[in-house]
Amino acid sequence: MDQATKTQATKTQATMNQELTRRQALGLAPAAGLALSTAATVFAAGEKPALLGGPKARKDPFPKWPRFDALEEKNLLEALRSGKWNRGQAVKSFEEAYAKLTGAKEVLATCNGTSSLIIAMKVLGVEPGDEVIVPPYTFIATINAVLMQYALPVFVDSDPETFQLDARKIEAAITPATRGLLPVHLGGNVCDMDAIPAIAKKHQILLVEDACQAHIAEWRGKKVGTFGDAGCFSFQATKNLNSGEGGAITFNDSDLRERAYAFHNSGSGLRNTGASFTYASASANMRITEFQAAILLGQMSRLAEQARIRMANGTYLASMLRQIKGIQPARQYDGCTNNAYHLFMFRYDPLAFSGLTRDQFLKALAAEGIPASRGYTPLNTQDFLKKTLASRGYLRIYGEKRMQQWAEQNHCPANDKLCTEAVWFTQNLMLSERTAMDQIVEAIRKIQNFGRELAQA
Ligand SMILES: *Cc1c(COP(=O)(O)O)cnc(C)c1O
Repeated sequence: MDQATKTQATKTQATMNQELTRRQALGLAPAAGLALSTAATVFAAGEKPALLGGPKARKDPFPKWPRFDALEEKNLLEALRSGKWNRGQAVKSFEEAYAKLTGAKEVLATCNGTSSLIIAMKVLGVEPGDEVIVPPYTFIATINAVLMQYALPVFVDSDPETFQLDARKIEAAITPATRGLLPVHLGGNVCDMDAIPAIAKKHQILLVEDACQAHIAEWRGKKVGTFGDAGCFSFQATKNLNSGEGGAITFNDSDLRERAYAFHNSGSGLRNTGASFTYASASANMRITEFQAAILLGQMSRLAEQARIRMANGTYLASMLRQIKGIQPARQYDGCTNNAYHLFMFRYDPLAFSGLTRDQFLKALAAEGIPASRGYTPLNTQDFLKKTLASRGYLRIYGEKRMQQWAEQNHCPANDKLCTEAVWFTQNLMLSERTAMDQIVEAIRKIQNFGRELAQA
């Protein structure tokens, strides 16, 4: 193909893609002649993968993260010059804005997402001897928040289709000791929020959402973090809303928020009883600073627009990758009306790529200019967890018999398999222009066409 034909072909493809997404958005089938597989013929047409000496599918770098402009600079300087560097006006403004954004009644900003989870566990009364149901496919902080209370994490297997906790398997894991559910909206995709709150209600147990990766994701138009007793958020550097480190908890109950405030403030509550240096509980300092809030207020001005771009690119990329044999993008449950795409996740099948292993596939993708990762390893079988649960404290609380039973039941075979198949793109890739999505598709098609050669390279 000469350059002019190629440009023309790319243009035609772009027009087709636009038409395709428009039709998909309207729930229409592709129009006749608008076959999805045209991407392969337009782009790949025998071109070699970069690893075998061909041209890179993506030459430009992907969007940098974080992004900021004069607004963050202005807010930060204001905080600096105010001379009030700890919790003050910026934090209060942020909490108000975040409550408005999520639709939560109350918000408490914290120093990070892990602390948000620990505070939620603490003020909701998760104690030693309690069991909390968790997914095995998440960032370790979810599990640590349970362990910090000397509570017992009980793992429920993943739904490989969606990468989320499999809600159909929750009830079988509930025992008289179950105190609550701690589902994670993983990758910004949303758990089954028809089923999960109903289970919590039926069994009269707590529901805390780990929404650390799912800022303004929605289930049937309602923002995540507002379905249960508390919603926990992280603003750590990689997250879709970022202040380097930072966190927040959403509540629908102002009493809970007050208790959380006291706990995160060394036990000093909001209501001044007149007596200074008196304390509500054994607690910690998990306060956020004015600087973090200043940055967050700036970042928040761009969040909705960035979320819209990620969603549009994520939806488009999933529709294109679904056409490639051996690539299965994470599905959304029907109720998910907004996926935050903190991660774009899919399953990779080497058999459809002439036996090319996942690691070889990732290497070939990297050579195309497309960074991707293998993602998590199973958490329910981590060595440190075995050691923790065999510790003096845990044995004293739960006894040999319960720990034995826990070990026997602690199997998540679907998740074990998922961890061997998963591939992730991080959220900043989803902030690219649309052609970047086509380049990702092109790269994967090239790799597939040359799977055998790459496997031997
Ligand atoms: C990032 C993250 C956390 C912890 O947040 P930090 O701010 O890093 O402490 C907890 N859970 C999940 C799912 C996360 O992705």
